[in-house]
Amino acid sequence: MSTEDMYAELAGQLDGELYIDDATREQYSHDASMLEVLPTAVIMPKDSNDLKSIVKFVTRQKLFFPDLSITARSGGTCMSGGSINDSIIIDFSKYFSSIHEVTPKMARVQPGVFYKDFEPKTLEQGAIMPSYPASRDLCTVGGMVSNNAGGEKSLQYGKTEKFVQELRVIFADGNEYVIKPLSREQLDDKMAQADFEGEIYKKIFDLIESNYDTIKAAKPNVSKDSTGYHLWNVWDRETEVFDLTQLIVGSQGTLGLVTDITFRLVPAPKHSGTLVMFLRKTDNLGEVINDVLAHKPATFEGFDNYTLMLSFKLFFYFHKNIGWLGMMKLGLQLLPDALMLTRGIPKMILLIEFSGDTTEAVAEKVHAMHEALKPYGHEALFEEDETEEKAQKFWIMRRESFNLLRKKVKDKHTAPFIDDLVVPPEHLPQFLPEVRAILNKYKFLATIAGHMGDGNFHIIPLMEIEKQSERDKLEPAMKEVNDLVLSYGGSLSGEHNDGMIRGSWLEAMYGPEVMGIFKQVKNIFDPQNIFNPHKKTDANWDYTKKHIRQHF
Ligand SMILES: Cc1cc2nc3c(=O)[nH]c(=O)nc-3n(C[C@H](O)[C@H](O)[C@H](O)COP(=O)(O)OP(=O)(O)OC[C@H]3O[C@@H](n4cnc5c(N)ncnc54)[C@H](O)[C@@H]3O)c2cc1C
Repeated sequence: MSTEDMYAELAGQLDGELYIDDATREQYSHDASMLEVLPTAVIMPKDSNDLKSIVKFVTRQKLFFPDLSITARSGGTCMSGGSINDSIIIDFSKYFSSIHEVTPKMARVQPGVFYKDFEPKTLEQGAIMPSYPASRDLCTVGGMVSNNAGGEKSLQYGKTEKFVQELRVIFADGNEYVIKPLSREQLDDKMAQADFEGEIYKKIFDLIESNYDTIKAAKPNVSKDSTGYHLWNVWDRETEVFDLTQLIVGSQGTLGLVTDITFRLVPAPKHSGTLVMFLRKTDNLGEVINDVLAHKPATFEGFDNYTLMLSFKLFFYFHKNIGWLGMMKLGLQLLPDALMLTRGIPKMILLIEFSGDTTEAVAEKVHAMHEALKPYGHEALFEEDETEEKAQKFWIMRRESFNLLRKKVKDKHTAPFIDDLVVPPEHLPQFLPEVRAILNKYKFLATIAGHMGDGNFHIIPLMEIEKQSERDKLEPAMKEVNDLVLSYGGSLSGEHNDGMIRGSWLEAMYGPEVMGIFKQVKNIFDPQNIFNPHKKTDANWDYTKKHIRQHF
């Protein structure tokens, strides 16, 4: 049977649409990563029955078409290449877009719902799902679950893994299962089942039990991590709770297809304000961070002098995002700071945000923070922006400069390959100059911005990536940066996940034993490797290298 006939047969079994035309395939060959892979087909499934049919069909046809596989895609904003692949892409955003139920405490929603459509519904209930990423206007909740996304509020609330209560997932046998935390008794019942589901529970439980200490010790010692499979969160001998959702969250669709999500929600903060700290020197950064964290801010973000300068340099580009009126407002607001900066460009700008029920309570917290940081005053300047509006200019720089980098800047493109590293905050004063030295050595035009409180930084060089000389820099630079991060006991990804870009570095981070355990996880769930190959434990740098983006 030809590939076309095979897809025609599959299309006949679906209520949704299946495309194999060049234009559609090309459209789905990119996400927000620096990679490109052309799929052979794109499917918009109508419902779970379609998905079950696809999984069963692929399982059968895999014998005759060994490269056949299924890659889920929701918003397509993955920066690690998680949502692209060389076989079937399943687009959840068209039909899996229902918000079933929202209360002040929980929400049940389909994975293709865009976060920007979800948040207004939760806010109507005075609630929020606080792990939204900086791509909140572009991404879906399915992608957030599958990448274990985090963002500016993760310092206070934690990442997506903390908010997933229940999932529906289609496993490799083509059936849909409800996954939620189980008591020991419920787990025993599951393990006694003589079917694929029972086998998964039994094998995963045995795997964790027989490697219990190794797995618990493997948990990265950082406050944010999206690498590997989070086995350490699945089974706890003391509480005797077994929670398989924790393995699916962050697994990038490599273990199954998520069809339904129940989130826990938290009350939405009513007011917020920011203390802005311009640091002339970063020698004391570690102590500053500790002092700030002791005040339990809602968010604690930061960006370096390069980001600031880029923001000024590319000021013009902002108008596309905030309009001319916004530009004028921003310009006027920035003017005093620009004048102040002539006294010396600060090395680092810290945004320390507090939230509360009244503006007065917020202003008090902002002021108390200022007072506590005054001893650093000889090398720092402060601005108290006790309302959201006053602090907006800095948040625009923080959020939009990152977004802006995605767009073409002259002849250069964003190259996210060291885009999400995490280093325990106490090491930042040593780490930041060292990482900057590596960036300078490779002559990368790159900003350092990110989540200070978590030591999670997004470094996204602008490169002429289509040039071989530039591509040749990727591997050695990545090795130097990743080795540096690991030497400080960090993680290679706080939020953006492994995908194709970091999967092949997992062994360097976890060592061969834990990597072997991760591979067993993949094999237990997906013995035929039908779900999102070339990612995570199945990633291979040679394959990744062949797919570095050439077309823009
Ligand atoms: C400008 C910009 C800023 C960003 N900032 C952040 C940030 O602050 N924090 C952060 O965490 N990330 C960030 N990202 C990365 C990305 O936007 C997020 O991780 C987001 O949550 C991905 O959602 P998505 O809907 O676009 O997912 P997609 O790109 O569609 O998919 C992401 C992964 O999930 C899998 N997947 C999708 N749907 C399903 C499903 N139904 N079942 C199983 N697997 C599925 C895909 O196969 C893929 O591996 C940023 C990206 C950009 C472009």
